[in-house]
Amino acid sequence: MVIHTYGHSRTYEMEALLKLFRPAERFTFSTEPEPPAEGECFSAVLLPEGDGLRLTCRVRIGENLCRSEKKLSSDTPNNILDREISGLSYPMFCEMTGIEPAWGMLTGIRPVNLLRKFTERTGSLAQAEDDFRNIWHVTEEKTRLASEILQIEQPILDAAPKNGVGIYVSVPFCPTRCKYCSFVSNSVSQMQKLIPDYYKCLAKEIDMVGNLVSEFGLTVDSIYIGGGTPTSIDLFQPLDWLHRNFAVNQPLREYTIEAGRPDTISRESIGFFRQFGVTRISVNPQSFQDHVLKAAGRPHTAQDAVDKYLLARELGFDNINMDFIAGLPADTVQGFRESIDRAVELNPESITVHCLSLKKAADFYQSLSMPDADAVSEMVAYAQKTLTAAGYRPYYLYRQKNMAANLENVGYAKPGYESAYNVMMMDDSQTILGIGAGASTKVLGGRRGIERLTECKYPYDYLARFDELMQEKERQLRELLG
Ligand code: SF4
Repeated sequence: MVIHTYGHSRTYEMEALLKLFRPAERFTFSTEPEPPAEGECFSAVLLPEGDGLRLTCRVRIGENLCRSEKKLSSDTPNNILDREISGLSYPMFCEMTGIEPAWGMLTGIRPVNLLRKFTERTGSLAQAEDDFRNIWHVTEEKTRLASEILQIEQPILDAAPKNGVGIYVSVPFCPTRCKYCSFVSNSVSQMQKLIPDYYKCLAKEIDMVGNLVSEFGLTVDSIYIGGGTPTSIDLFQPLDWLHRNFAVNQPLREYTIEAGRPDTISRESIGFFRQFGVTRISVNPQSFQDHVLKAAGRPHTAQDAVDKYLLARELGFDNINMDFIAGLPADTVQGFRESIDRAVELNPESITVHCLSLKKAADFYQSLSMPDADAVSEMVAYAQKTLTAAGYRPYYLYRQKNMAANLENVGYAKPGYESAYNVMMMDDSQTILGIGAGASTKVLGGRRGIERLTECKYPYDYLARFDELMQEKERQLRELLG
């Protein structure tokens, strides 16, 4: 399909809307004065008319062409223009494709934040829910989910310390690469020679950030070590540096290690996680079906995940998360149900249910089409019903691009076991100081409300330009934190 724009440059936002209906399609673009005369096309033309502007949207799919227009004021800001384009085009797409996306015409990754903003603006959650349903076409079920999460999150947001920050440490290595992976994760065997230098740089960056935290009187609220699979390298030294810089004199609200792949977890590593005060670990089966794990390129079995989960319990962890993915190739609705049922039997404190997101960087991208939307919706609905019945509550939610069925990822937790880091990070309500290649840093305050620091995604670049990167990062952080 061609995305045609004229008189404005909202191409990216139009593409995001179109992806709700054509998730895996690659589009072509036109900025000619007239939309193409033939072929499938989504066009938005903005032209002066009188003392204002006229917006004309057209959608052509197959033989059908729909057109809708609206007069706008000449000073319409871009965010309102986006809404007007969506408002005119979305009903045409629904009618012509027969698809009614569960999150309506919302394309952002944080719908719960949006609901909070609407609530603050209107002074009423009920009014904000109405806006979700009536203006944004969000289904009743998803509106209820977002509203429930909003209310569960609030005490976690309220309990954040003044001047609190989260520390995120990135370990962008994995033992091997899963076929659905689109992160900048690198297999340990390929990157082995980089790891000693990665340690050295990590130590220096932890020191630099630790000094800034002390100098600016910040309180470390949580530490999260993510990746990649952090446990694919020996974490003893990084944990020691973190302990000395951040965790010596103050109790953390949460200290998480994303242990991720069960094939990287050992009795020894879990032992020193406990020694350094880690409070929460994530052991991620993704599925309890061996053939699904094999097809996804994960070299461990369902039993391995169970064994490592039980090991973490035996060694004293009382806050364990498990991740699952709905829509993995070779999985079925029945298979996914069995995975969720098995997880509930094991009784971890939290269970996160993702929907497969197919991005260009994933090995699967070339070879697979999007999973069946109805099947994924059924899986997600089953997880929600089963986990809720078992005493879990949804507490954080985010969406990604190219997600199966355009649904969402939801973290469920037993009351009191919600991950504070996940909530604070997803709500953009706390400064997050990222450390390591691929870690993003965002500082609250500043001209735009939140300032995001440019991240260096690739370990090679991070190591090669480390001194220059750190000088610039320290300069920017001083400016933003001061
Ligand atoms: S464990 Fe996660 S980060 Fe690592 S390769 Fe698999 S999906 Fe990617």
